Amino acid sequence: MAGFEDEVLSRRTFAIISHPDAGKTTLTEKLLLFGGAIRAAGTVKGKKTGKFATSDWMEIEKQRGISVTSSVMQFEYAGKRINILDTPGHQDFSEDTYRTLMAVDSAVMIIDAAKGIEAQTIKLFKVCRMRGIPIFTFINKLDRQGRPPLELLAELEEILGIESYPMNWPIGMGKEFLGIYDRYHRRIEQFRVEEGDRFLALNEAGEVEGDAPIKENALYGQALEEIMLLDEAGNEFSEKRIANGTLTPVFFGSALTNFGVQTFLETYLQFAPPPQGRKTDEGVVDPLSEQFSGFVFKIQANMNPAHRDRIAFIRICSGKFERGMSVTLARTGKQMKLSQSTQFLADDRSTVEEAVSGDILGLYDTGTYQIGDTIFSGKQPVQFEKLPQFTPELFVKVSAKNVMKQKSFHKGINQLVQEGAIQLYRTWHTEDYILGAVGQLQFEVFEHRMKNEYNSDVVMESIGSKIPRWVEGDTVDESLSSSRSLLVKDRFGKPLFLFENDFALRWFTDKHPDIKLYNPMN
Ligand code: GDP
Repeated sequence: MAGFEDEVLSRRTFAIISHPDAGKTTLTEKLLLFGGAIRAAGTVKGKKTGKFATSDWMEIEKQRGISVTSSVMQFEYAGKRINILDTPGHQDFSEDTYRTLMAVDSAVMIIDAAKGIEAQTIKLFKVCRMRGIPIFTFINKLDRQGRPPLELLAELEEILGIESYPMNWPIGMGKEFLGIYDRYHRRIEQFRVEEGDRFLALNEAGEVEGDAPIKENALYGQALEEIMLLDEAGNEFSEKRIANGTLTPVFFGSALTNFGVQTFLETYLQFAPPPQGRKTDEGVVDPLSEQFSGFVFKIQANMNPAHRDRIAFIRICSGKFERGMSVTLARTGKQMKLSQSTQFLADDRSTVEEAVSGDILGLYDTGTYQIGDTIFSGKQPVQFEKLPQFTPELFVKVSAKNVMKQKSFHKGINQLVQEGAIQLYRTWHTEDYILGAVGQLQFEVFEHRMKNEYNSDVVMESIGSKIPRWVEGDTVDESLSSSRSLLVKDRFGKPLFLFENDFALRWFTDKHPDIKLYNPMN
């Protein structure tokens, strides 16, 4: 193993964010192939191949052919150790998806050139923005007819509010896709051209020297004009602004045909940050410090139904993990030995002996961990900042199917809530259970786990999407509760209203200007 500092500085830990179908799986496969982490493309997820990446997925996942929770893939390329944290590419969100973004140092945002910016991209982007991490954009599917590239850049600014710097620019697209004009490497990369002639160098004036067939094509001229426009009126390249997440470098390409992916990866690795310092209650933990520390950002249950195991995913924030080391769980002050560790490669689990800041550790968990927990070695206590909560949007009423089995119902619900799998509320007076989630899938996972882990069948009745708003102070006039503004309390007893929609919220605030409402998750 190289020196500890070199090891840490070689880490690049990121997640790919996108709307379903933009090409995340395809791009991930290609990236992994460059690193030689998998033998053949098509094994990342079972969606298309029928073969599942990690050994056992949950039943729900099998039925729906999706990946419920994100896993971790590691590979090496050009002297860097890359950790990709997968976020489920499905319509359904879970809080896991958001929390995974808490454990990365940068993000790659994939956009389908024909569709532009879509709903899920916006949501995930916001979380990355909140953290101020660098965001790299890959505009995909240039082998198909898409929207004009300038229009796509305008969307980045208008919808997401982020400025962009195109690192390269497409020359044509779809049937007439000729390649990309690489502003950064000052070369043209030709599409579907044999290896030897693939790259054409550019001269001082930014044009191809001599006579190359591409120069005869009107699309080449058009691309040059657009580049000129970008040079004059576009944003300036700024490494500093990439680093603080206010400027996104944009790459065009086609994941499916593996075009522009290597260029993207190599440039990404130049600008993506190594592990960053992480805030604690008392300052920032330096990733290069020797003391081991990390936090739990997700807990995945039942990966193997036969063993009923859970895995707590830990982002290492400083120091080095060694199998068998002793750590303290900050929440309880309890000491424990880390012996059962696992790391996820593309298609099998392997045991990790050593890992450093930036790496993700999977620890077998028997109910010890909660989401957001800090663990550390040595005597100096560490407590990382709380993970943000995400505003739940969907709500269901939940009860035990069998009234004789209240005990297991309560036990299960309380543990799952503590673990951070779902949010729990009670109606103000009647104390009925209401669950809140950011995506429908979370309810299904909840139902499944209640049955399988706590032997409790539940009845869930949707009350639809709501806008939760907390009330300042601890008391509130309960006569204000109605079906359009349902008064409930959270698990700490704090009052909040679940508004039926924006209109109900506005009506309420107009009518009761004296009641101060807030959303702690914003
Ligand atoms: P995900 O849902 O974001 O993981 O998207 P996938 O990687 O599963 O891709 C969705 C669909 O788009 C699949 O049918 C892919 O084959 C296709 N696709 C992905 N990348 C490209 C591309 O560069 N060009 C074209 N034409 N299709 C692509």
